[in-house]
Amino acid sequence: MTLNRRDFLKVSGAGAAVALTGCATTASSSAARPHVVVVGAGFGGATCAKYLRQWGPHIDVTLIEPNDKFVSCPISNWVIGGLRTMDDITHGYDNLPKHGIKMVKDYVVAVDAAKRTVKTRGGATISYDRLVLSPGIEILTDTVKGYKEAEAAGKVVHAWKAGPQTALLRKQLEAMPDGGTYVLSVPAAPYRCPPGPYERACLVANYFKQAKPKSKIILLDGNPDVVSKKPLFTDAWNTLYAGMIEYRPNNAPLAVDGSKMIVTTEFDEVKGDVLNVVPRQRAGDVCAQAGVRNDSAGTWCTVNFDTFESTTVPNVHILGDSILAPLPKSGHLATNHAKVCAAAIVELLAGRQPDPIPVIANTCYSATSGTTSGYVAHVYRYEAGKGYVAQPEGGATPKGSEIVFAYQESWAKNIWANALD
Ligand SMILES: Cc1cc2nc3c(=O)[nH]c(=O)nc-3n(C[C@H](O)[C@H](O)[C@H](O)COP(=O)(O)OP(=O)(O)OC[C@H]3O[C@@H](n4cnc5c(N)ncnc54)[C@H](O)[C@@H]3O)c2cc1C
Repeated sequence: MTLNRRDFLKVSGAGAAVALTGCATTASSSAARPHVVVVGAGFGGATCAKYLRQWGPHIDVTLIEPNDKFVSCPISNWVIGGLRTMDDITHGYDNLPKHGIKMVKDYVVAVDAAKRTVKTRGGATISYDRLVLSPGIEILTDTVKGYKEAEAAGKVVHAWKAGPQTALLRKQLEAMPDGGTYVLSVPAAPYRCPPGPYERACLVANYFKQAKPKSKIILLDGNPDVVSKKPLFTDAWNTLYAGMIEYRPNNAPLAVDGSKMIVTTEFDEVKGDVLNVVPRQRAGDVCAQAGVRNDSAGTWCTVNFDTFESTTVPNVHILGDSILAPLPKSGHLATNHAKVCAAAIVELLAGRQPDPIPVIANTCYSATSGTTSGYVAHVYRYEAGKGYVAQPEGGATPKGSEIVFAYQESWAKNIWANALD
């Protein structure tokens, strides 16, 4: 009888110190312990790795991430609006190894789902019993003509992955003369963080109001209407920033001309001093390599929501922004996916049935000024055949307030600690 690695693990039992020979593993652990490889140490991946180790101390966990530091998208709009600095949203990964997680600084370039191995850019081949992918988004700059050239010349940014573009956008806004125009373009849904662009418009307006009051914002929306928290944002635009923000729906960008500083849409040619065009997105490229970017458009990944395992590729789980879900693409939900998935993997590796009715929640805060914020909160229970069904708990604030601004900052500190400490 021939045993594959999975059969071998079943009969040998976790904890037995038996070495497998001929295994492709170069960075895996002692062969008898189940091994989970997690790709991406963002909100989903870091949280999943940590909870896998907490709830399954017999499981070896390898977390692969190319970056030295975690730079948070939540609160990055506060940096762009001048309320916080890049240091405030940048965190180390130093605490994760204390949970027994093996951190590998590398980038996954290939997945062999049949052999259950991943290959990294650095040349390692790492085998897994279960693979978790939380790579976030790939930004489809190709969908806007001229984008790549303008981006390379520093004439257009998306700043939709927190990092150098966040800092560059802040610098561009600081350098813009009073009376200038900031053009912000919102992609057609679904995209990462539905309220994010509207929060950004509020915080740039808040900055202009104090530092360059003759300036204006043109908000080009690729959607027919404000996608998220409409009462909250329209209240802020009408009361705090009257006359400063011009909202144009159904205005997806077709082209960017970095030399003339023009964004072209189906209806308009808009000239700006600072161009912040956020293109459409899809699941991170490692999902395509694993064969799990499998919705009808080949854009997002479909999963079974009780385990977050791919609907088509066994032993591969996907979390966070990369999945196709009726729920928003948020960091808060990515951490909830991560915990449901970690608990399910612990059960599956032990040959048990995962929780059939997991409950998850989303809380999303948005600042409307330098002292006020609003929120939306929902609880969802998984029901077989229906997916996550919204429960009556939750709600949304129609107006920003100072107390919610304080909650927003506390929420960010808590979720960073939950993922990274
Ligand atoms: C402006 C803005 C504001 C936001 N505000 C909020 C907010 O207030 N609240 C909220 O809940 N959410 C917010 N979000 C959304 C939140 O940032 C995302 O939903 C969240 O980051 C998704 O988590 P993730 O794990 O899917 O991806 P990420 O957090 O992006 O992590 C992906 C990680 O995978 C790594 N990676 C990618 N490919 C590979 C590979 N091949 N090999 C190895 N590593 C790889 C990347 O380097 C990255 O570290 C905001 C987003 C933006 C843009």
